[in-house]
Amino acid sequence: MNRQCPCCGELFEKEPGYYTGAMYVSYAYYTALIVGSFLLFEVILTLDTYAVIGGLVGLIVLLTPVVFRLARLTWINFFISFDPQKQTSCP
Ligand SMILES: [Zn+2]
Repeated sequence: MNRQCPCCGELFEKEPGYYTGAMYVSYAYYTALIVGSFLLFEVILTLDTYAVIGGLVGLIVLLTPVVFRLARLTWINFFISFDPQKQTSCP
């Protein structure tokens, strides 16, 4: 993750441990992902138990980089609002 936004200069690392709260956000995302995927695999596709467990583990491993970044993005958006008046150097 960048230390600072290249466009507007916003510091992304506010203080040590700032993104600790993002763990709670990722917990919520993983819960929704697992429950939704479980319902899809078990109820709709009617896969057997080992296929469901394998599918869930594979999905979690594959989506970890996405959920990690999405949770941090969600967390920082709780505290920093978009400011259209802020000077930017990006197009
Ligand atoms: Zn920016």
